[in-house]
Amino acid sequence: MSDVKTGTGSATIQKSESEWHDELTPMQYAVLRQKATERPFSGEYDHSFEPGIYVCAGCGQTLFESDAKFDSGCGWPAFSAPASNEAIAEERDISHGMVRTEVLCARCNGHLGHVFDDGPGPNGLRYCINSAALKHRPGSN
Ligand SMILES: [Zn+2]
Repeated sequence: MSDVKTGTGSATIQKSESEWHDELTPMQYAVLRQKATERPFSGEYDHSFEPGIYVCAGCGQTLFESDAKFDSGCGWPAFSAPASNEAIAEERDISHGMVRTEVLCARCNGHLGHVFDDGPGPNGLRYCINSAALKHRPGSN
């Protein structure tokens, strides 16, 4: 077997690109599967602070809770922590001439955004996430 898996090996949901293409909106597909970044201040959740949870637009897994969301002013939804450490995967990203940490959904390996270490919370983290990668589910938390 010469089938070497890199990066996607731990994802439990694996679909072909054409399956993802059919299931997702063009914007969701561009972000989750092609690692695109939506334009700043354009996303549906940038300035939404409704209580509830944010699930992966690709597979429905809970990724973030509204309690952890804050207004970073950067133009994308920002969170101080994921709902659980198991929900997300992180990978070093050296594209665009920068060294950043990419944030992925651990379940479907969809690209979510990046995490930076300039956050205001106790752990100092700022998860900068594309709205298109998220779906808000209203709740009372
Ligand atoms: Zn997912």
